[in-house]
Amino acid sequence: MPGVLPVLVSLAALLALNLWPNGRMVVEPYLPALPWLVLGLGLALAWRFNRGRPALALCLLAAGAVPAGWLDLAGQVAHSRELFALLLPASLVVLVWLPERGLISLSGLLRTLGFAGLWATVFTAASFRPDAVRQILDWQPVSSLPFNVVLPSFILLLAWLLLGLLACYGLYRAGGPIEWALAFAALAGTVALYWSWQISPLTWFALVGLAPAIALVEMSHGLAFHDELTGLPGRRALNEALERIAGRYSLAMVDIDHFKQFNDRYGHDVGDQVLKMVAGRLAGVGAGGRAYRYGGEEFTLLFPGRSLATVEQEVDRIRVEVEQAGFILRRRYQRPRNKPAKPKKPREQRRLSVTVSMGVAERKKGEAADQVIKRADQALYRAKKAGRNRVVSA
Ligand code: GH3
Ligand code: MG
Ligand code: MG
Repeated sequence: MPGVLPVLVSLAALLALNLWPNGRMVVEPYLPALPWLVLGLGLALAWRFNRGRPALALCLLAAGAVPAGWLDLAGQVAHSRELFALLLPASLVVLVWLPERGLISLSGLLRTLGFAGLWATVFTAASFRPDAVRQILDWQPVSSLPFNVVLPSFILLLAWLLLGLLACYGLYRAGGPIEWALAFAALAGTVALYWSWQISPLTWFALVGLAPAIALVEMSHGLAFHDELTGLPGRRALNEALERIAGRYSLAMVDIDHFKQFNDRYGHDVGDQVLKMVAGRLAGVGAGGRAYRYGGEEFTLLFPGRSLATVEQEVDRIRVEVEQAGFILRRRYQRPRNKPAKPKKPREQRRLSVTVSMGVAERKKGEAADQVIKRADQALYRAKKAGRNRVVSA
């Protein structure tokens, strides 16, 4: 799972400092510096990778720490805690849904101003009409429970339920490390506003801020090792896997047949879709194999510990699967730029034939990885020459 590590680190830090007094005593002298450290580090990473959403999330958490720690005690704005407990998750869940637009860009700036404006409006309105806010927040209050939690009102519970569902659906739709960290921050940040635990709210918010900060590192790792278009691990990941692998292995070099035609006839978009379709089939490879995007329309299947004979069967199964699946061309791609007098097959789906050729090689004793790849490539070349849509072994 792409987003698990940052969330786990933050959660582990929260639990450790709350439940393990000895550990807390060790780090206690450094805790005042922690919020600034996390905020500074997180903003520096967000700036370096040009990501606006985690930067904004860190700023919102920092703003949330204020009523949690100081403002509420000073009583400067009535109901500030409840308002933050609504605004913070709402803003973070909106960030889960919003597409990334960069940190230092016009839309990034507008977005920051939009959030700041919304928060300022809510708090200004609340300071003018505290009675009205109280009325809304107190709507059908739930009676308190016998443990150390101040229960929120019914309206807050409803709002959180809705936000929770929205966050879950957002993660299901497209959940990378950043989105997971934002959703986690929404949850843990809200909990901090109600739960009086062992560490100060400021420390709590700093530890929650670890999630978006680490998610930035996770994201850049993902970008380096994964191919964005197909979602498969890329060439760098393959090289690393080959460095680690010891002893016997087999690999297959896979190349889509006449791929250039898809681009030339239907455009680059369709070419990309075909690549994704093939990548999806290859990702389902069995026999302990793993698929990588080698580059362009070429892929590698790596089978640690497997003999040529086992692998030949499995890759041929995949070849047939790709051939049988084909590619369904959607209507919008069929519209020619210059409208012909008589369109050939209007408003119909067309199935394009997609095939792949493969060259398979098993590592010989003492052979280097690039040699194995070279032999598989030569076998692939022979498969192409022999008429494509076939598997040839080195
Ligand atoms: P062959 O059967 O001999 O393999 O023919 P081919 O047309 O598949 O081979 P060729 O190497 O001539 O063409 C590969 C094309 O793949 C050229 C390049 O423009 C295209 N291509 C490479 N990467 C991508 C990509 O990410 N997206 C799209 N749409 N096209 C790509
Ligand atoms: Mg090629
Ligand atoms: Mg090709």
